[in-house]
Amino acid sequence: MNEEEKTKEIERLQSLLRGQEESARLLVRRDLELTKANEKLETLGQLKSDFVSVVAHQLRTPLSVTKWAFDMLWDTMKETLTPEEVSMLIRGKESNERMISLVDDLLNVNLHDAGKVQYVFSNFSIEEVVNKIVEQLMPVASKRNIHLEFISKQLLPDIYGDSKKIGSVVQNFVENALKYTPKKGEVIVRTTVEDSVVTVSVQDTGIGVPKAEFDKLFTKFYRGENAIKTVTEGSGLGLFISQKIIRRHGGKIWFESDEGKGSTFYFSVPITK
Ligand code: ADP
Repeated sequence: MNEEEKTKEIERLQSLLRGQEESARLLVRRDLELTKANEKLETLGQLKSDFVSVVAHQLRTPLSVTKWAFDMLWDTMKETLTPEEVSMLIRGKESNERMISLVDDLLNVNLHDAGKVQYVFSNFSIEEVVNKIVEQLMPVASKRNIHLEFISKQLLPDIYGDSKKIGSVVQNFVENALKYTPKKGEVIVRTTVEDSVVTVSVQDTGIGVPKAEFDKLFTKFYRGENAIKTVTEGSGLGLFISQKIIRRHGGKIWFESDEGKGSTFYFSVPITK
């Protein structure tokens, strides 16, 4: 390489270097902008959570008062009411309870998001928990003419976890199965144990989940298109909260489904943590 070529090469390298320095400066600036935008989003997210929390808390008290009034009316007057009045009272009571459960879900979501949910761990029988929930939901199943059954073929060991929260997951699964299964269908709850892991499954002959929505089911507020058409009421929070609870127990939650034929929702948790 002669002198002239060397000078040209040096100039070329210097210009490359300048270009790289400019790119680095741009990157730093973009990084700062993104950090600021992210901080803004976090603040907005926090404001939204605070807003939901305040509204939900404000709604909780009047709803509890209404519940108390409905319960009192039911206990003291149900014998004296006409069948039409009884049915109106039941409808009011049920709507009030649905609203309470929606408000509780909203409060719960915020607590889960903030990692502030209190868990009370102890050894408990999952079989007893499942049995109780199935018994409680039997009238709902009969009303919809759905055959609901709990099958447990193995003797299950106790598991270490929060029995109330695990119970709420079972309840979410069975309530969904009853909600999304047409009349005269079937909902079967099963418990099994293998390799120190207990699995609970709820199988139904319901509307199923469209394949295109498989990834979205556990996302916050997500409701399937066919689900919205079948049951207008729903928050899309049950599975989101259930997933948080099962993960906290070191477990797994999943489902299998065939649209129009039925679904099976599963969760499994280790016996000890
Ligand atoms: P919600 O039932 O209030 O809509 P969930 O979080 O419990 O909220 O469920 C989210 C969605 O998952 C439902 O809207 C529905 O699309 C789908 N899904 C849940 N369980 C079933 C089921 N057993 N059969 C069909 N779809 C279901």
